[in-house]
Amino acid sequence: MEFIDLKAQYRLLEASIRARIDAVLDHGHFIMGPEIGELERKLAAFTGARQVVTCGSGTEALLMPLMAWGIGPGDAVFVPSFTFFATAEVVGLTGAVPIFIDVDPASCNMSPQGLERAIEAVTRQDPTIHPLPRQAVRQRLTPRAVIPVDLFGLAADYDALFPLARAAGLPVLEDGAQSFGGRWRDKPICGLGATAAATSFFPAKPLGCYGDGGAIFTDDDDLAARLRSLRVHGKGEHKYDNVRLGLNGRLDTLQAAILLPKLDILAEEMEARQTAARRYAENLNALPGVTPPRIPAHCRSAYGQYSVVFRDGAARDAAASVLRERGIPTNVYYVKPLHLQPVFADLGYAAGDLPVSEDLSRRILSLPMHPYLSPEAIDAVCQGIRDALSPAAS
Ligand SMILES: *Cc1c(COP(=O)(O)O)cnc(C)c1O
Repeated sequence: MEFIDLKAQYRLLEASIRARIDAVLDHGHFIMGPEIGELERKLAAFTGARQVVTCGSGTEALLMPLMAWGIGPGDAVFVPSFTFFATAEVVGLTGAVPIFIDVDPASCNMSPQGLERAIEAVTRQDPTIHPLPRQAVRQRLTPRAVIPVDLFGLAADYDALFPLARAAGLPVLEDGAQSFGGRWRDKPICGLGATAAATSFFPAKPLGCYGDGGAIFTDDDDLAARLRSLRVHGKGEHKYDNVRLGLNGRLDTLQAAILLPKLDILAEEMEARQTAARRYAENLNALPGVTPPRIPAHCRSAYGQYSVVFRDGAARDAAASVLRERGIPTNVYYVKPLHLQPVFADLGYAAGDLPVSEDLSRRILSLPMHPYLSPEAIDAVCQGIRDALSPAAS
């Protein structure tokens, strides 16, 4: 069994993907070829965003808006601790300090109460209100942005997060790397009202290419213009007129060509993911000791991952090992919350600072999930978990 079966999708789209690749080989515009503009227009139509700027990866899609906003040393950016490393890495790369927020145990997404307290703690330089990095106690950092993550495909709690960010005058950068194709209150992910949104086209993401890629979504024309400059070395009027420090941050034409046929079937794939998730939930709801994802009625998860939470770490490890013996792959996202990563040791966070993130890292397990997963495969995964949780009965 595959954790994410990219070959099944390729078999379905082989003819159109190959035709698109051949077209690029024929016209030869490998950098910023016509497929880039075509993809950006189609992504704008899909999300409702006024502007889409494709780029080289999801990490760049997070970094470039921070650069465009001039975020750097002396600034604080609020990020969840329970996420992929890149969400906080980009903050550190600008020279700003990541302020880690705990997550809500039901959604695994940034806790609005945590964000509210952390903004106050930074403003007052008071770590008794919320755990703070050392730098934020020594020095009065300027709160500059919030990066909520739509973890595992589920939108963060924007009903609570948007008003908090607005009250603090902070732009919201939505990290939709795992959630593209999902919905929140009838709005598509990356088009739900954040100041800017970032997604990733890494092969295993809900919309993946055959290499690295990413995109930024915004309704702010001025921000989009700065992003287009940043992705080509801070170009001004032309490529050899450099008005700011930028990056080589372009998406390859070939990757855009590969994404176009995949975008055409994304809506159908999302339906297939819902069907798979329903079957998982029907099976798992009958099992005490494991909790499937709970998706609020106003959200549709893209199920970038299908992550379940066990009653304790021993049950999680037992399930992973029974499944491994049966040839069923699983992964732990994430083994270590970001506030405890060695690279952030200077910040001075300690174990126990963000207890929900730390607890989830011991009890969570991601199961195989993709649009081509058969009902029999889902039942086999769930049978493995059932056997692991009640070894005597098996
Ligand atoms: C994958 C991912 C990224 C980074 O995307 P890349 O394309 O790998 O650079 C950022 N944030 C989250 C939450 C991710 O899952």
